[in-house]
Amino acid sequence: MKTYDVVVIGAGPGGLTAALYASRANLSVMILDRGIYGGQMNNTAAIENYPGFDSILGPDLSEKMYKSSTQFGADFGYGAVESVEDKGNVKIIHTDDGDYETKALVIATGSQYKKIGVPGEDELSGRGVSYCAVCDGAFFKGQDVAVIGGGDSAVEEGIYLTQLAKSVTIIHRRDQLRAQKILQDRAFKNDKIKFVWNADVKEIMSEDQKVAGVRYVDKETGEEHVVPAKGAFIYVGIQPMTSAFKDLGVLDEDGWINTNDHMETKVPGIFAVGDVRKKDLRQIATAVGEGGIAGQQVFSYLQELADDKVSAK
Ligand code: NAP
Repeated sequence: MKTYDVVVIGAGPGGLTAALYASRANLSVMILDRGIYGGQMNNTAAIENYPGFDSILGPDLSEKMYKSSTQFGADFGYGAVESVEDKGNVKIIHTDDGDYETKALVIATGSQYKKIGVPGEDELSGRGVSYCAVCDGAFFKGQDVAVIGGGDSAVEEGIYLTQLAKSVTIIHRRDQLRAQKILQDRAFKNDKIKFVWNADVKEIMSEDQKVAGVRYVDKETGEEHVVPAKGAFIYVGIQPMTSAFKDLGVLDEDGWINTNDHMETKVPGIFAVGDVRKKDLRQIATAVGEGGIAGQQVFSYLQELADDKVSAK
Protein backbone atom coordinates (compact mmCIF):
# COMPACT_ATOMS: atom_id res chain seq x y z
CA MET A 1 0.00 0.00 0.00
CA LYS A 2 1.35 3.44 -0.98
CA THR A 3 1.71 6.00 1.83
CA TYR A 4 1.36 9.77 1.40
CA ASP A 5 1.43 12.83 3.65
CA VAL A 6 -1.85 13.87 2.09
CA VAL A 7 -4.34 12.38 -0.33
CA VAL A 8 -6.67 14.80 -2.09
CA ILE A 9 -9.86 13.18 -3.35
CA GLY A 10 -11.26 15.07 -6.32
CA ALA A 11 -9.34 17.01 -8.97
CA GLY A 12 -11.57 20.03 -9.46
CA PRO A 13 -10.28 23.55 -8.77
CA GLY A 14 -10.42 23.11 -4.96
CA GLY A 15 -8.61 19.78 -4.90
CA LEU A 16 -5.99 20.86 -7.43
CA THR A 17 -5.19 24.00 -5.46
CA ALA A 18 -4.92 22.06 -2.19
CA ALA A 19 -2.47 19.74 -3.95
CA LEU A 20 -0.48 22.70 -5.29
CA TYR A 21 -0.06 24.27 -1.85
CA ALA A 22 0.71 20.98 -0.08
CA SER A 23 3.26 19.79 -2.66
CA ARG A 24 4.92 23.21 -2.76
CA ALA A 25 5.35 22.84 1.02
CA ASN A 26 7.29 19.66 0.18
CA LEU A 27 4.65 17.19 1.32
CA SER A 28 4.07 13.97 -0.61
CA VAL A 29 0.69 14.35 -2.31
CA MET A 30 -1.62 12.03 -4.22
CA ILE A 31 -4.59 13.47 -6.10
CA LEU A 32 -7.23 10.82 -6.75
CA ASP A 33 -10.13 11.20 -9.14
CA ARG A 34 -12.46 8.71 -10.78
CA GLY A 35 -12.30 10.66 -14.05
CA ILE A 36 -10.34 13.35 -15.80
CA TYR A 37 -9.00 16.29 -13.77
CA GLY A 38 -10.94 19.54 -13.84
CA GLY A 39 -14.24 18.42 -12.33
CA GLN A 40 -17.24 20.47 -13.40
CA MET A 41 -14.99 22.92 -15.25
CA ASN A 42 -14.92 20.30 -18.02
CA ASN A 43 -18.66 20.70 -18.50
CA THR A 44 -18.49 24.48 -18.70
CA ALA A 45 -18.15 26.31 -21.99
CA ALA A 46 -17.02 29.84 -21.22
CA ILE A 47 -15.74 30.81 -17.77
CA GLU A 48 -15.94 34.57 -17.32
CA ASN A 49 -15.76 34.93 -13.55
CA TYR A 50 -12.31 33.58 -12.80
CA PRO A 51 -9.81 36.45 -12.54
CA GLY A 52 -6.98 36.59 -15.03
CA PHE A 53 -9.03 35.42 -18.00
CA ASP A 54 -11.60 37.55 -19.85
CA SER A 55 -13.17 34.30 -20.93
CA ILE A 56 -11.68 30.82 -21.02
CA LEU A 57 -13.03 27.41 -22.04
CA GLY A 58 -13.59 25.13 -19.03
CA PRO A 59 -11.39 22.29 -20.35
CA ASP A 60 -8.58 24.80 -21.07
CA LEU A 61 -8.67 26.14 -17.50
CA SER A 62 -8.70 22.52 -16.23
CA GLU A 63 -5.54 21.76 -18.20
CA LYS A 64 -3.78 24.89 -16.94
CA MET A 65 -4.73 24.20 -13.31
CA TYR A 66 -3.68 20.55 -13.56
CA LYS A 67 -0.26 21.51 -14.97
CA SER A 68 0.43 24.10 -12.30
CA SER A 69 -0.89 21.87 -9.50
CA THR A 70 1.40 18.96 -10.38
CA GLN A 71 4.56 21.00 -11.07
CA PHE A 72 5.90 20.44 -7.54
CA GLY A 73 5.60 16.67 -7.65
CA ALA A 74 2.01 15.82 -6.70
CA ASP A 75 0.98 12.46 -8.15
CA PHE A 76 -2.31 12.03 -9.98
CA GLY A 77 -4.11 8.70 -10.04
CA TYR A 78 -7.41 7.33 -11.27
CA GLY A 79 -9.55 5.56 -8.72
CA ALA A 80 -13.11 5.69 -7.45
CA VAL A 81 -12.97 6.04 -3.68
CA GLU A 82 -15.33 3.58 -2.02
CA SER A 83 -14.69 4.29 1.68
CA VAL A 84 -12.23 5.81 4.14
CA GLU A 85 -11.15 4.35 7.47
CA ASP A 86 -10.08 6.80 10.12
CA LYS A 87 -7.38 5.19 12.24
CA GLY A 88 -6.42 8.36 14.09
CA ASN A 89 -3.09 9.65 12.78
CA VAL A 90 -3.46 7.52 9.69
CA LYS A 91 -6.38 7.20 7.25
CA ILE A 92 -6.85 4.28 4.87
CA ILE A 93 -8.50 5.06 1.55
CA HIS A 94 -10.16 2.16 -0.26
CA THR A 95 -10.64 2.62 -3.99
CA ASP A 96 -11.83 0.31 -6.76
CA ASP A 97 -8.18 0.08 -7.77
CA GLY A 98 -6.36 -0.49 -4.48
CA ASP A 99 -5.79 1.18 -1.13
CA TYR A 100 -3.78 4.22 -0.02
CA GLU A 101 -2.49 5.20 3.40
CA THR A 102 -2.30 8.87 4.28
CA LYS A 103 -1.69 11.10 7.28
CA ALA A 104 -4.13 13.75 6.10
CA LEU A 105 -7.07 13.78 3.73
CA VAL A 106 -8.65 16.59 1.71
CA ILE A 107 -12.15 15.83 0.42
CA ALA A 108 -12.84 17.78 -2.77
CA THR A 109 -15.39 15.55 -4.49
CA GLY A 110 -17.80 18.34 -5.38
CA SER A 111 -21.43 17.95 -6.28
CA GLN A 112 -23.55 16.57 -9.08
CA TYR A 113 -26.76 17.63 -10.76
CA LYS A 114 -29.99 16.45 -9.14
CA LYS A 115 -32.67 14.59 -10.99
CA ILE A 116 -36.12 16.14 -11.20
CA GLY A 117 -37.77 12.74 -10.64
CA VAL A 118 -40.52 12.74 -13.27
CA PRO A 119 -41.57 9.92 -15.61
CA GLY A 120 -39.37 9.74 -18.70
CA GLU A 121 -36.28 11.24 -17.06
CA ASP A 122 -34.43 7.98 -16.42
CA GLU A 123 -35.84 6.12 -19.41
CA LEU A 124 -34.74 8.86 -21.83
CA SER A 125 -31.37 9.63 -20.24
CA GLY A 126 -28.89 9.67 -23.15
CA ARG A 127 -31.85 9.75 -25.58
CA GLY A 128 -32.49 13.46 -25.28
CA VAL A 129 -32.42 13.93 -21.50
CA SER A 130 -29.11 15.46 -20.46
CA TYR A 131 -27.43 17.22 -17.54
CA CYS A 132 -24.54 18.60 -19.62
CA ALA A 133 -25.15 21.10 -22.42
CA VAL A 134 -21.46 21.29 -23.29
CA CYS A 135 -21.26 17.50 -23.69
CA ASP A 136 -24.54 16.90 -25.51
CA GLY A 137 -25.60 20.23 -27.03
CA ALA A 138 -24.15 19.38 -30.44
CA PHE A 139 -26.68 16.53 -30.85
CA PHE A 140 -29.42 19.14 -31.05
CA LYS A 141 -28.11 21.41 -33.81
CA GLY A 142 -31.01 23.25 -35.43
CA GLN A 143 -33.60 21.65 -33.13
CA ASP A 144 -35.87 22.86 -30.35
CA VAL A 145 -34.67 22.11 -26.82
CA ALA A 146 -36.03 22.69 -23.33
CA VAL A 147 -34.09 23.59 -20.19
CA ILE A 148 -35.71 22.91 -16.82
CA GLY A 149 -34.69 25.10 -13.86
CA GLY A 150 -34.14 28.77 -13.07
CA GLY A 151 -30.72 28.96 -11.41
CA ASP A 152 -27.29 29.91 -12.76
CA SER A 153 -26.82 26.51 -14.39
CA ALA A 154 -30.15 26.52 -16.23
CA VAL A 155 -29.72 30.05 -17.55
CA GLU A 156 -26.00 29.79 -18.37
CA GLU A 157 -26.41 26.46 -20.14
CA GLY A 158 -29.56 27.71 -21.87
CA ILE A 159 -27.58 30.63 -23.30
CA TYR A 160 -24.85 28.23 -24.41
CA LEU A 161 -27.41 26.03 -26.18
CA THR A 162 -28.66 28.94 -28.30
CA GLN A 163 -25.42 28.68 -30.30
CA LEU A 164 -26.53 25.24 -31.48
CA ALA A 165 -30.27 24.81 -31.13
CA LYS A 166 -33.05 26.46 -33.15
CA SER A 167 -34.82 27.51 -29.95
CA VAL A 168 -34.36 27.09 -26.20
CA THR A 169 -37.34 27.14 -23.83
CA ILE A 170 -36.45 27.64 -20.18
CA ILE A 171 -39.16 26.06 -18.05
CA HIS A 172 -39.16 27.36 -14.47
CA ARG A 173 -41.37 26.58 -11.49
CA ARG A 174 -41.71 30.23 -10.35
CA ASP A 175 -42.21 33.57 -12.11
CA GLN A 176 -38.69 34.81 -11.30
CA LEU A 177 -35.29 33.38 -12.04
CA ARG A 178 -32.82 32.56 -9.29
CA ALA A 179 -29.83 33.09 -11.62
CA GLN A 180 -27.37 36.01 -11.29
CA LYS A 181 -28.64 39.28 -12.76
CA ILE A 182 -26.01 39.40 -15.52
CA LEU A 183 -27.10 35.97 -16.79
CA GLN A 184 -30.78 36.91 -16.56
CA ASP A 185 -30.19 40.07 -18.60
CA ARG A 186 -28.34 38.13 -21.25
CA ALA A 187 -31.06 35.48 -21.45
CA PHE A 188 -33.89 38.03 -21.66
CA LYS A 189 -32.09 39.77 -24.55
CA ASN A 190 -31.53 36.53 -26.46
CA ASP A 191 -34.13 36.10 -29.22
CA LYS A 192 -33.72 32.35 -29.27
CA ILE A 193 -34.74 31.93 -25.61
CA LYS A 194 -38.38 31.62 -24.58
CA PHE A 195 -39.59 31.30 -21.01
CA VAL A 196 -42.35 29.25 -19.47
CA TRP A 197 -43.17 30.44 -15.94
CA ASN A 198 -44.94 28.80 -12.98
CA ALA A 199 -44.61 25.38 -14.55
CA ASP A 200 -44.91 22.15 -12.63
CA VAL A 201 -43.10 19.66 -14.85
CA LYS A 202 -44.92 16.33 -14.95
CA GLU A 203 -43.24 14.26 -17.63
CA ILE A 204 -40.52 14.08 -20.26
CA MET A 205 -42.45 12.78 -23.23
CA SER A 206 -41.12 10.43 -25.87
CA GLU A 207 -41.60 9.36 -29.45
CA ASP A 208 -39.63 6.42 -30.91
CA GLN A 209 -37.80 6.16 -27.55
CA LYS A 210 -36.40 9.68 -27.90
CA VAL A 211 -37.40 12.92 -26.19
CA ALA A 212 -40.34 14.61 -27.90
CA GLY A 213 -41.35 17.24 -25.35
CA VAL A 214 -41.89 18.35 -21.76
CA ARG A 215 -45.38 18.13 -20.26
CA TYR A 216 -46.19 20.56 -17.47
CA VAL A 217 -49.10 22.00 -15.56
CA ASP A 218 -49.42 25.78 -15.33
CA LYS A 219 -49.63 26.38 -11.56
CA GLU A 220 -51.78 29.49 -12.00
CA THR A 221 -54.39 28.16 -14.42
CA GLY A 222 -54.13 24.43 -13.73
CA GLU A 223 -53.94 23.86 -17.49
CA GLU A 224 -51.71 21.22 -18.97
CA HIS A 225 -49.29 22.06 -21.80
CA VAL A 226 -46.48 20.46 -23.75
CA VAL A 227 -43.29 22.20 -24.86
CA PRO A 228 -42.18 20.29 -27.99
CA ALA A 229 -38.44 19.60 -27.71
CA LYS A 230 -35.91 17.05 -28.92
CA GLY A 231 -33.65 17.67 -25.94
CA ALA A 232 -34.48 18.20 -22.25
CA PHE A 233 -31.62 19.66 -20.20
CA ILE A 234 -32.29 19.38 -16.48
CA TYR A 235 -30.70 21.86 -14.03
CA VAL A 236 -32.75 21.74 -10.84
CA GLY A 237 -29.94 21.98 -8.30
CA ILE A 238 -27.05 19.99 -7.02
CA GLN A 239 -26.26 17.35 -4.40
CA PRO A 240 -22.94 16.47 -2.74
CA MET A 241 -20.88 13.48 -3.82
CA THR A 242 -20.09 12.14 -0.38
CA SER A 243 -21.41 8.57 -0.15
CA ALA A 244 -17.85 7.23 0.38
CA PHE A 245 -17.51 9.35 3.54
CA LYS A 246 -20.76 8.49 5.30
CA ASP A 247 -19.03 6.54 8.09
CA LEU A 248 -16.59 9.33 9.01
CA GLY A 249 -19.09 11.45 10.93
CA VAL A 250 -18.35 14.57 8.84
CA LEU A 251 -21.59 14.85 6.83
CA ASP A 252 -24.67 16.87 7.72
CA GLU A 253 -28.19 15.48 7.26
CA ASP A 254 -28.16 16.36 3.52
CA GLY A 255 -24.69 14.96 2.90
CA TRP A 256 -22.75 18.27 2.75
CA ILE A 257 -19.55 18.67 4.80
CA ASN A 258 -19.26 21.34 7.49
CA THR A 259 -15.81 22.83 8.07
CA ASN A 260 -14.38 25.74 10.02
CA ASP A 261 -12.48 28.64 8.39
CA HIS A 262 -9.38 26.42 8.22
CA MET A 263 -11.30 23.90 6.10
CA GLU A 264 -11.01 21.40 8.96
CA THR A 265 -13.87 18.98 9.50
CA LYS A 266 -14.56 17.83 13.03
CA VAL A 267 -12.28 14.81 12.43
CA PRO A 268 -8.58 15.68 12.95
CA GLY A 269 -6.62 15.31 9.71
CA ILE A 270 -9.70 15.43 7.46
CA PHE A 271 -10.29 18.64 5.50
CA ALA A 272 -12.90 19.57 2.88
CA VAL A 273 -12.90 22.19 0.11
CA GLY A 274 -15.02 23.36 -2.81
CA ASP A 275 -18.60 22.52 -3.74
CA VAL A 276 -18.80 19.59 -1.32
CA ARG A 277 -18.73 22.02 1.64
CA LYS A 278 -21.89 23.37 3.24
CA LYS A 279 -21.76 27.01 2.02
CA ASP A 280 -23.52 29.66 -0.02
CA LEU A 281 -21.24 30.51 -2.93
CA ARG A 282 -20.09 27.63 -5.12
CA GLN A 283 -17.63 29.09 -7.59
CA ILE A 284 -14.24 28.22 -9.07
CA ALA A 285 -12.81 31.27 -7.30
CA THR A 286 -14.11 30.19 -3.89
CA ALA A 287 -12.96 26.58 -4.39
CA VAL A 288 -9.47 27.79 -5.28
CA GLY A 289 -9.28 29.97 -2.15
CA GLU A 290 -10.41 27.10 0.04
CA GLY A 291 -7.89 24.76 -1.62
CA GLY A 292 -5.05 27.15 -0.75
CA ILE A 293 -6.19 27.33 2.87
CA ALA A 294 -6.51 23.53 3.14
CA GLY A 295 -3.08 22.91 1.59
CA GLN A 296 -1.48 25.23 4.14
CA GLN A 297 -3.50 23.83 7.04
CA VAL A 298 -2.52 20.26 6.15
CA PHE A 299 1.11 21.36 6.44
CA SER A 300 0.45 22.85 9.92
CA TYR A 301 -1.47 19.73 10.99
CA LEU A 302 1.38 17.43 9.96
CA GLN A 303 3.91 19.61 11.78
CA GLU A 304 1.81 19.35 14.95
CA LEU A 305 1.62 15.58 14.53
CA ALA A 306 5.41 15.42 14.18
CA ASP A 307 5.91 17.71 17.22
CA ASP A 308 3.57 15.51 19.30
CA LYS A 309 5.57 12.43 18.32
CA VAL A 310 8.84 14.09 19.31
CA SER A 311 7.50 15.27 22.69
CA ALA A 312 5.97 11.82 23.37
CA LYS A 313 9.44 10.20 23.05
P1 NAP B 1 -29.60 26.12 -7.88
O1 NAP B 1 -28.97 27.45 -7.75
O2 NAP B 1 -29.94 25.33 -6.67
O3 NAP B 1 -30.92 26.32 -8.77
C1 NAP B 1 -31.80 25.26 -8.99
C2 NAP B 1 -32.99 25.76 -9.80
O4 NAP B 1 -33.84 24.65 -10.05
C3 NAP B 1 -33.79 26.81 -9.05
O5 NAP B 1 -34.25 27.79 -9.94
C4 NAP B 1 -34.96 25.99 -8.48
O6 NAP B 1 -36.16 26.73 -8.39
C5 NAP B 1 -35.14 24.91 -9.52
N1 NAP B 1 -35.65 23.67 -8.94
C6 NAP B 1 -35.22 23.02 -7.84
N2 NAP B 1 -35.91 21.88 -7.63
C7 NAP B 1 -36.80 21.81 -8.64
C8 NAP B 1 -37.80 20.88 -9.00
N3 NAP B 1 -38.02 19.76 -8.26
N4 NAP B 1 -38.54 21.12 -10.09
C9 NAP B 1 -38.32 22.22 -10.85
N5 NAP B 1 -37.39 23.15 -10.57
C10 NAP B 1 -36.64 22.94 -9.48
O7 NAP B 1 -28.69 25.12 -8.79
P2 NAP B 1 -27.67 25.42 -10.00
O8 NAP B 1 -28.24 26.43 -10.93
O9 NAP B 1 -27.28 24.10 -10.54
O10 NAP B 1 -26.42 26.09 -9.28
C11 NAP B 1 -25.72 25.37 -8.28
C12 NAP B 1 -24.62 26.26 -7.68
O11 NAP B 1 -23.59 26.48 -8.66
C13 NAP B 1 -25.14 27.63 -7.27
O12 NAP B 1 -24.48 28.02 -6.10
C14 NAP B 1 -24.75 28.50 -8.44
O13 NAP B 1 -24.60 29.87 -8.09
C15 NAP B 1 -23.44 27.88 -8.89
N6 NAP B 1 -23.21 28.14 -10.32
C16 NAP B 1 -22.58 29.29 -10.67
C17 NAP B 1 -22.36 29.58 -12.01
C18 NAP B 1 -21.66 30.85 -12.37
O14 NAP B 1 -21.24 31.59 -11.48
N7 NAP B 1 -21.51 31.20 -13.64
C19 NAP B 1 -22.80 28.70 -13.00
C20 NAP B 1 -23.46 27.54 -12.61
C21 NAP B 1 -23.68 27.28 -11.27
P3 NAP B 1 -36.34 27.92 -7.30
O15 NAP B 1 -35.61 29.09 -7.87
O16 NAP B 1 -37.83 28.08 -7.25
O17 NAP B 1 -35.78 27.40 -6.02
